[in-house]
Amino acid sequence: MNTKAYAALSAGSDLVPFEFDRREVGAHDVELDIKYAGICHSDIHQVREEWGAAIFPMVPGHEIAGVVTSVGASVTKFKVGDHIGIGVFVDSCRTCEQCQKGLQQYCANGMTGTYNGYERDGKTVAMGGYSNRFVVNEDYAVHVPANLPLDGVAPLLCAGITLYSPIKHWKVGPGKKVAVMGLGGLGHMGVKFSVALGAEVTVLSHSPSKEADAKAMGAHHFVSTKDPENFKAIAKSFDVILNTVSAELDINQYLNLLKLDGTLVTIGLPGKPYSVHAGSLLSGRRSLAGSMIGGIPETQEMLDFCGEHNILSDVEVIKADYINAAYERTIASDVKYRFVIDASTF
Ligand code: NAP
Ligand code: ZN
Ligand code: ZN
Repeated sequence: MNTKAYAALSAGSDLVPFEFDRREVGAHDVELDIKYAGICHSDIHQVREEWGAAIFPMVPGHEIAGVVTSVGASVTKFKVGDHIGIGVFVDSCRTCEQCQKGLQQYCANGMTGTYNGYERDGKTVAMGGYSNRFVVNEDYAVHVPANLPLDGVAPLLCAGITLYSPIKHWKVGPGKKVAVMGLGGLGHMGVKFSVALGAEVTVLSHSPSKEADAKAMGAHHFVSTKDPENFKAIAKSFDVILNTVSAELDINQYLNLLKLDGTLVTIGLPGKPYSVHAGSLLSGRRSLAGSMIGGIPETQEMLDFCGEHNILSDVEVIKADYINAAYERTIASDVKYRFVIDASTF
């Protein structure tokens, strides 16, 4: 199936128009016209090999929203015309303990990434969502509620679920004080979900100009992290801190903001390790944890929650030829709050 896309041809190069063939629709597959594809900071990390060696040509993109155009003979979950979403993985082993529990992102045998990896045949390079068509096994796609526009939905497939999952796991809700580090694509979804669930929400941002937006999203407090003095007033005050920052930082400064028994959840994935002071952890029985996207059942739960509460990503819709500029603006933290590519422009 001829597919139009944008690809990076080598590490760190600009993305350029690119055509390739996807597999034909198999018995358990659905085919979709992609309508919108979000730009996640993980796309940039991988194009630039900030996480290690990558596979090129690379068609990034794992925030995919589209409309089903055909279904294989054995498909039961979807029909032509359905609004559908695909996220960070397109397959997994299906048999390990995690897969059986619907936690496919933690598959013991490794999930199959939507791009920058090989499909389960071990030889087909997976090509991602910066493209106009997609084919996926029905078990690895989710239903999009009919009341939600697809441009604001696309980022939910990674940014949305990546915050929803730890927010549920660490029981963010009424009576809990939560801080979100970094008001970017992931962070702004963390604010929206935490507010919707009734927590008291503080944004910790190195961009003071984002205060009005944070408050408009429902955040109760905004603290500029540019001034180290500002950390003093909020020391030992949070139950949960959701760290979505894509860059290196002094994690100890933030651990010290946790209350007794508080947890800092690492979600942002800069290429270099953090340097953790033992004292920052033991002086309040604090935990430093991590969380990675979410499984298929929880992704469906998150989309249904968004449908009920009318939660969407704030998006700036762009044409494909703006992708390289959008990368630069994302790195400069100049994104409000997710770039989404109109797939009709590939
Ligand atoms: P993003 O839109 O670029 O947002 C990152 C935010 O971090 C920025 O908007 C900025 O917020 C803050 N930031 C950036 N540079 C900073 C610096 N030098 N110092 C302090 N703060 C800085 O990126 P994203 O798409 O949300 O992704 C965030 C991170 O999560 C990336 O590393 C990505 O790879 C990772 N990720 C992880 C998962 C997972 O499963 N765990 C899933 C998706 C993405 P302020 O301007 O408000 O400071
Ligand atoms: Zn992502
Ligand atoms: Zn598995």
